[in-house]
Amino acid sequence: METPTSPTPLPDRLREGLARIAAVMRSDDWRRAQELGVNPTQLAVLQCLEGRRDGMRVGDIASVLGVSQPTATDSIATLVAKQLVEKRIDSGDGRSVRVFLTPTGQAATQAPSATPGAAEAVLQALPGDDQEQMLDLLVDLIRRLQERGAIPIQRMCASCRHFRPCAHADAARPHHCAFVDAAFGQQDLRIECRDHEAADPATRTAIWAAFDRDRPPILQAP
Ligand code: SF4
Repeated sequence: METPTSPTPLPDRLREGLARIAAVMRSDDWRRAQELGVNPTQLAVLQCLEGRRDGMRVGDIASVLGVSQPTATDSIATLVAKQLVEKRIDSGDGRSVRVFLTPTGQAATQAPSATPGAAEAVLQALPGDDQEQMLDLLVDLIRRLQERGAIPIQRMCASCRHFRPCAHADAARPHHCAFVDAAFGQQDLRIECRDHEAADPATRTAIWAAFDRDRPPILQAP
């Protein structure tokens, strides 16, 4: 039996905590999906396509969502029937198609929810410093997962060729985005950026080394 003097290992308790939060987020997604008249997988497809000016191939959508290609194909077919997404011939490869949000799908994904999710409400209520620290940890966790090959490269600053970490002396805005040529702060790090362009592995390693060097000691990678 677990007691305060004989707890389960800390990583186990962290995983338990993350699982609780994931369950709440799944529940929030169910409610949001119902609002839009889709199921949670179809909602995830819509969210995945948001901001993708070049659309996505079906296989890439399946990879990002961690579902099988037949599951992604079925979900996309339903969304096409609902006129929320459309398929177009890939301009670079006439044998394949890419999936895009329609204007209706775009409006649906951007429409405010009638009832904000519980997880979203709790996150919004966190003090700003806690939000920033959590963002930093999430970036690190996601980076580790993608470097292990557990998830595809995500569209976040830490894997973007435009990211120049700690390029400025300004403590409030130390980072630089070369895409928009502007400085930005730690709290503005992106996890899902429509302008992201994946850096090659060597550049990703160099970016992370520069980023990690200036993080508070408690957040630095071992
Ligand atoms: S383009 Fe987006 S992901 Fe890349 S550095 Fe700029 S803000 Fe970050």
